[in-house]
Amino acid sequence: MKFVRQFGGGSAEGRATDKALLGGKGANLAEMASLGLPVPPGFTITTEVCRHVMAHGAGSYPPGLDAEVAEAMTQVESLTKARFGDPTQPLLVSVRSGAPASMPGMMDTILNLGLNDQTVAALAQRSGNPRFAWDCYRRFVAMYGEVVMGVVAPSEHEDLAFDRLLEDVKRKHKAQRDQDLSEAALREAVGLFKAEIQRATGQAFPDDVTAQLWGAIGAVFASWNNPRADYYRKLNGIPAAMGTAVNVQAMVFGNLGDDCATGVAFTRNPATGANELYGEFLTNAQGEDVVAGVRTPEPIAALAAKQPAAHAELVRVAKLLEDHFRDMQDLEFTIQRGQLFMLQTRAGKRTGRAMIKVAVDLVGEGVLSPRDAVLRMEPSKLDEVLHPMIDPKARPPAIAKGLPASPGAAIGKIVFTASAAAEWAQRGETVILVRTDTSPEDIHGMKAASGILTSRGGMTSHAAVVARGMGKCCVTSCTALRVDAAKRTCAFVGGGQEIKLKEGDTLTLDGSTGEVFLGPAPLVPAQLGSELDKLMEWVDSFRRLKVRTNADTPADARTARSFGAEGIGLCRTEHMFFQPERLLAVREMILAGNEAGRRAALAKILPMQRSDFAELFTVMDGLPVTIRLLDPPLHEFLPHTPAEMDEVAAAVGVPRQAIAAKVAELTEANPMLGHRGCRLAITFPEIYEIQTRAIGEAAAEVARAGIAVHPEIMIPLVMVPEELRRLRELVARTFAAAIGDAQIPVTIGTMIELPRACVVADQIAAHADFFSFGTNDLTQTTYGLSRDDAGRFLTTYIESGVLPSDPFAVLDPEGVGALIELAVRGGRSVVPNLKVGICGEHGGDPSSVGFCHRAGLDYVSCSPFRVPIARVAAARAALADAAPAGSKK
Ligand code: PEP
Ligand code: MG
Repeated sequence: MKFVRQFGGGSAEGRATDKALLGGKGANLAEMASLGLPVPPGFTITTEVCRHVMAHGAGSYPPGLDAEVAEAMTQVESLTKARFGDPTQPLLVSVRSGAPASMPGMMDTILNLGLNDQTVAALAQRSGNPRFAWDCYRRFVAMYGEVVMGVVAPSEHEDLAFDRLLEDVKRKHKAQRDQDLSEAALREAVGLFKAEIQRATGQAFPDDVTAQLWGAIGAVFASWNNPRADYYRKLNGIPAAMGTAVNVQAMVFGNLGDDCATGVAFTRNPATGANELYGEFLTNAQGEDVVAGVRTPEPIAALAAKQPAAHAELVRVAKLLEDHFRDMQDLEFTIQRGQLFMLQTRAGKRTGRAMIKVAVDLVGEGVLSPRDAVLRMEPSKLDEVLHPMIDPKARPPAIAKGLPASPGAAIGKIVFTASAAAEWAQRGETVILVRTDTSPEDIHGMKAASGILTSRGGMTSHAAVVARGMGKCCVTSCTALRVDAAKRTCAFVGGGQEIKLKEGDTLTLDGSTGEVFLGPAPLVPAQLGSELDKLMEWVDSFRRLKVRTNADTPADARTARSFGAEGIGLCRTEHMFFQPERLLAVREMILAGNEAGRRAALAKILPMQRSDFAELFTVMDGLPVTIRLLDPPLHEFLPHTPAEMDEVAAAVGVPRQAIAAKVAELTEANPMLGHRGCRLAITFPEIYEIQTRAIGEAAAEVARAGIAVHPEIMIPLVMVPEELRRLRELVARTFAAAIGDAQIPVTIGTMIELPRACVVADQIAAHADFFSFGTNDLTQTTYGLSRDDAGRFLTTYIESGVLPSDPFAVLDPEGVGALIELAVRGGRSVVPNLKVGICGEHGGDPSSVGFCHRAGLDYVSCSPFRVPIARVAAARAALADAAPAGSKK
């Protein structure tokens, strides 16, 4: 077994396709080296070794690894004409993580490894720049002290000891910025850092370069399991078992002088998708300075003036890499004495808006086929472009402006630490996380926040990159902002005034312009551009599944149609009764003591339902509209407070005690398994009878107005075929009578929401024109997990890995899915072309939509905002189906 793969000098022992073994960074470094691009030589220790370490404990490596590392090091030495630990011509290396899936900034990195008191002198001499050598050394000692030896900040509010010591040195030597520190000051910093390591850990900083190397390798492997990496993996569904690779690579220096720089670039604009080389660089700086957001970098365009040759080379390499990978790339580079070196390339993280534009442009440029463009899409990213933005006609004046790091609008209460963001969000508050800059430790707070605002950092700072990945609104580099996290206050300073704010005050962010507004700004629905239309045209040409919407109101139905819904898959009629005057009528009906009382209440309900249905039919204009007859879990509709009981008592004309007694009688221990769904109509058929009449009369009325109507009447929670047989007969008879001589095609079907119904689906199908899987209830009843209560402990199940995900959000293919497959087979064995759909929440989840495609369903139905996501997921599932194995590109 070979655990180490080399790259550099125009060749490599790996390719871009070896990500599982070499990690994303290692695989692409190998690819770039093979393409003859300027990559400093190095080697990758494979993910196999990480898995070995996870199985056998830290520091326990597979036999032979040390020999392989030593041999690879010799190769790097010969390519760089330097030697590791050599007192005259020392080789310095970086040691970086690189997992198969991108996890930006979540794991550890060490630069300038190989420095000690001898080699630093050699570096000083060879570079002719002692200040530079000591600057590298102080960075290395601090990084090594933190990452390998574990000298960390005492708390979220406090600085790292090394940062504090550096500030002391700066003050003492009257240096404003890090760059102003003299060689003597840097020497002093190194001494203080080493003393701090000794004090904090009881161990000396190692001078031996081989010990340094193995310490760093061990720390990078260990960082695979640090809490922030763990959290990030859970957030993004990355399996913990895959492990990270470690890349050891010869150092190149962006901090040797003003003809040096370091930067990151995207081959296209990651926020808008515009076709322009986009990014930032810092002159005379080392790699981590850009991402850390400590100094605000310059835009890449400025590089053309400062270093024209290196800029031209970067443009050439960027184009070559984009063409090679056929996708927008995110590049890391260093310019050493005018010469460009590439340190990383990977598919660039982008906003939903950029995802759409880049895909459409690449197809237009002939780089991608529409099929590839759709396969590259992340369906859930569409969410961002569909959500509201600040009303352009009613924009309040901004109080500050930063960089538009990740688009969208966010309104929220401000908090100053990640923990506060998580706590407030847990309490149901919408928050904006306000920081000087963010670091990977803040990731849980960024996830919890609806927007992120930082005073420092550029477009590629941690905050910006992570926020874009999460599709979260973010404004960085808001220089007017001063944050005092310890006091939980901040201030916006500028134009001779100061606006002071404290935790809990409200701000609005516009991540598309970088503007910050005091208080809540007015929002309007998003405008979808022609590029999205184009992309969705391709999407629709590939998919087989139809996509409908769950809508109870004409407004929802209209929104869904604008997003491409092809019908209503679920109208929950009980949701039409949430307004107070309507709720009262439903309560009267539920609490009536006899049929006459129920009919009196239903008589009030009939006209309301009729007009609702007529409006829905009109909006849907001939598209199918599935109306589910009443399914009220009684606990959601009973009056609870004395005032509510008084109200019903007055309406029915009985004393409150009578109502209270009836409520007590109807209260169930297990309402979700109680007198709900079609059970209600088996006992009180008049309920479905009146609802059906309302549907029929509305359909006839709309049809008379010349609008095509296509109602589908759906009976919920069927457990035995006899329920459906009886109710179907009632519904068919009532509907026929209600429409009179109008010609209206109606179908009558059932929801499949119980395991028993799945098992006897063949018998149920004998009475059904269609099935619609109510996977909310089907999940609840298959798992025996209460939909209403399981949230309290499901998080623990998911966080501790007992469950891979929330089964109410992501359809469980093995259990619930197997029941669905059984029911589809059973149903179609009796009615071969039985129409089958899904209307539980899973209908809008991309992986669940994929399952529905494979299970042979005809349609999925989901909430209006998820309709485009479901369309894309359906197309991707169809394409994955059609693609021969292994040719997903
Ligand atoms: C379901 O159970 O999946 C469903 C759509 O019905 P409801 O959520 O209204 O119970
Ligand atoms: Mg249900």
